[in-house]
Amino acid sequence: MFRKWIDEVVVAGAKKKVEIREDEFFERRCRIIGRVGLELVAEENFDDLINKPCIFCTPEKLAKFGKEFGKEIFENEYAFLFPNINPYAKYSSVCAFKQHFIKPAQFNAELIEKNLELCMDYIHKVMELDEIKYASISWNYLMPAGASILHPHTQVIADKQPTTYMAFIAKKKKEFKEYLDKEMKSERYIGKIGKIKLFTPFVPFGFNEVVGIAEENIENCLEDLSKALEKIISYYASIKRNSFNVAIYISLENEFPLHFRCITRQNMVKYYRNDAMFFERLHQEVILEKKPEEVAKELRNFI
Ligand SMILES: [Zn+2]
Repeated sequence: MFRKWIDEVVVAGAKKKVEIREDEFFERRCRIIGRVGLELVAEENFDDLINKPCIFCTPEKLAKFGKEFGKEIFENEYAFLFPNINPYAKYSSVCAFKQHFIKPAQFNAELIEKNLELCMDYIHKVMELDEIKYASISWNYLMPAGASILHPHTQVIADKQPTTYMAFIAKKKKEFKEYLDKEMKSERYIGKIGKIKLFTPFVPFGFNEVVGIAEENIENCLEDLSKALEKIISYYASIKRNSFNVAIYISLENEFPLHFRCITRQNMVKYYRNDAMFFERLHQEVILEKKPEEVAKELRNFI
């Protein structure tokens, strides 16, 4: 299922190595190169952006749900959830943390769990209203990760149709299970947090990727899921990374197990190098400089 080979090249008298990896299940390859500096660790001050007026700090200006939802917005002590004004699907909402700016090291499990709880309240409501088969809770943290608003927020999409990724794994249910078993028996297996098993994939989708697989459905795993995310985000903060993406994939008919993927993106610095170049966008191959085995080893100290 997994194979790798090394190409050796001499450039200006120096020997360079390129490790190419192939994952048969996802039909993806990645390249691991020796260059140092692909991932930015510089941190710049962006107080000017933090101090700008913010739409998520004025909830009265945000879109409200229609009568069928029974309430205008969903709210608890740490978060509030409202319709996405630029929807990605028929059911598309935003769940903003109440605090305007939260540094990666400040996200604790309770804060994350309260956000996910509201996302699940919304998904349950949508399930009452319509026939949906798939849901996702995703997160772009800071602009290099795709956020358009700095104020931290997750996004929920509930749909009859899967996303491309979900369709792929739903179609290959048996093989996906074999893939997960293989990853969890590898040296990239990190460990277990409650009902969540963590590993770094042989061919990652992005920098410092961690995959978490749940043993049960999301209703029984919210606390463990939040604890796992807290650990991963604190690891990201420890390696000086301040932008990341998370996606939690939910099949309401159990076509695939509940799981999440999370990756770091480039740091929030003014003239940053994007981490998606022609290789990632047009060749569907990720370029890395740190081996997933190394990420797994470092993360074991955090769980
Ligand atoms: Zn705000």
